[in-house]
Amino acid sequence: MGERNLNIEPKITLLGAGPGDPDLLTLKGVKALQTADVVLYDALTNEALLTHAPAAAIKVYVGKRSGEHSFEQDAINKLMVDYALNYGHVVRLKGGDPFVFGRGYEELDYADSYNIPVTVIPGISSSIGVPGLQQIPVTHRGLSESFWVITGTTSNGQVSDDIYQAAKSNATVIILMGLKKLPQIVEIFKAEGRHDLPAAVVQNGSSDNEKLVVGKVDSILEISKKEKIEAPALLIFGEVVSLHPSFKTLIKQYAAIS
Ligand code: SAH
Repeated sequence: MGERNLNIEPKITLLGAGPGDPDLLTLKGVKALQTADVVLYDALTNEALLTHAPAAAIKVYVGKRSGEHSFEQDAINKLMVDYALNYGHVVRLKGGDPFVFGRGYEELDYADSYNIPVTVIPGISSSIGVPGLQQIPVTHRGLSESFWVITGTTSNGQVSDDIYQAAKSNATVIILMGLKKLPQIVEIFKAEGRHDLPAAVVQNGSSDNEKLVVGKVDSILEISKKEKIEAPALLIFGEVVSLHPSFKTLIKQYAAIS
């Protein structure tokens, strides 16, 4: 990238963009974008957020949609550091919260190895925010004393072992990156005899094309297929799903159809 400009003060902001609705960015996030020289943004961030950055700022899409490997993590790390050294303030805009399955710490660590100062601005994670927008509380007195946020797809492509543990508990279980593994995940809950546990799948939470299906462990797979639920989506298993305003009506409707 040529000669280093010594007047440049490299710094990086790891910024959580929230679950999709651009109004769910924090005020601190807006302020960071306003002083960006470069914005590196992911697939699950809303491009409307880029309007907070100066027109002259460089905006680079570094998305890794599942199945596509346009940008490997190493390439993103290098790009981020190169831009910081050459242009100054890099805002690394990441979907949801940077540290919830966001590989944020890897980026922080890499920047650290170049002594580039990093600020972290948390974002509303889809794991809590998306159920919340649907009026499904992740905890509720008398129904759920804890919640687990688990990946449906670990780095070796398997469902996390933690799902087997969580399925034995009374916790609310929120699974990210799990839609493709829904058949297997449903079997894990069934193996624990939890056929009647309420379950929901939310696609594109907080955006205009948000879609929700609710059911029970026994029916959620079929309902999701019928409604053609697609990624990005998250799965919610737990009694709290029964608090959804339309849970009872939806359950009855599906029972009538099937
Ligand atoms: N750091 C992000 C999660 C990254 S993993 C966060 O805190 O939200 C990406 C996964 O998050 C997706 O595969 C999907 O399971 C979930 N996800 C992210 N945004 C979502 C949204 N708007 N609606 C539903 N699920 C979402």
